[in-house]
Amino acid sequence: MPELPEVEVVRRGLDCHIVGRAFEHVEVLHPRAVRGNTVDLEKALPGRVVTATGRRGKYMWLVLDGVDALLVHLRMSGQMLVTEPGGAKSPHLRIRASMSARGGEPAVDLNFVDQRTFGFWQLAEFVDDAGTLVPLPAAHVAPDPFEEAFSVRDTARAMRQKRSPLKSVLLNQEVVSGIGSIYADEAMWSTRLKPWRTARTMRQRDAEAVLKASQEVMARSLEQGGTSFDALYVNVNGSSGYFSRSLNAYGQAGVPCARCGTPIERIVVGQRSSYFCPTCQIL
Ligand SMILES: [Zn+2]
Repeated sequence: MPELPEVEVVRRGLDCHIVGRAFEHVEVLHPRAVRGNTVDLEKALPGRVVTATGRRGKYMWLVLDGVDALLVHLRMSGQMLVTEPGGAKSPHLRIRASMSARGGEPAVDLNFVDQRTFGFWQLAEFVDDAGTLVPLPAAHVAPDPFEEAFSVRDTARAMRQKRSPLKSVLLNQEVVSGIGSIYADEAMWSTRLKPWRTARTMRQRDAEAVLKASQEVMARSLEQGGTSFDALYVNVNGSSGYFSRSLNAYGQAGVPCARCGTPIERIVVGQRSSYFCPTCQIL
């Protein structure tokens, strides 16, 4: 499943290749790829110009004429592919949009490919969420650690109101968005916090440290994955394989801890697998 860094890589690619182009012909090839049934994207999008891109957690969007949002959620397996006209050959192509030429650059297609059909496009209005404009369907999730509106101190305080285990609180999108299971496990490993400890009993400084650590591990992934946007082909493959080399905890059961050599263990916290070091994650 794409995590925040992969979604951010796709957003940057779209920012580079799509901003400044207008939607021309739009073809919806699978009804489930569009949310908000009253809006016919085939009729609503042509003529709209993409003026910017945005993201909160795993939601990203194209800004249309500076006014509305075309929200895109990749969910399990969605891909946004920019190709030459007619260039997408996938049997899982769900939406094909032809985009106008831009400056001296030729027209392109923006394709939404989704093998499992859980991802979607949705036309949405912007709402003001504490000074930040976000599309309405994304307004229920809290800011992610990369947003200007994100406050480590306030988010740590909100975490410490929760009776649930730390792991579940890091995945709670109403507390902080965009931290998936991989980055939660890595952040807890690097700050030596136990996944099952009750968030409510944490010290403020530990809660702040785990949030900063999650931001840092995601930023490192972004550096590794964000090297190929000059290619026309903007892609997220739905696994996060190209980030997995540098993991210290997630998926590493049985592998010696990089800090102390104890084999990493797997437990289930709040129905989610959690990987941790039983020797050095003692806080
Ligand atoms: Zn260890």
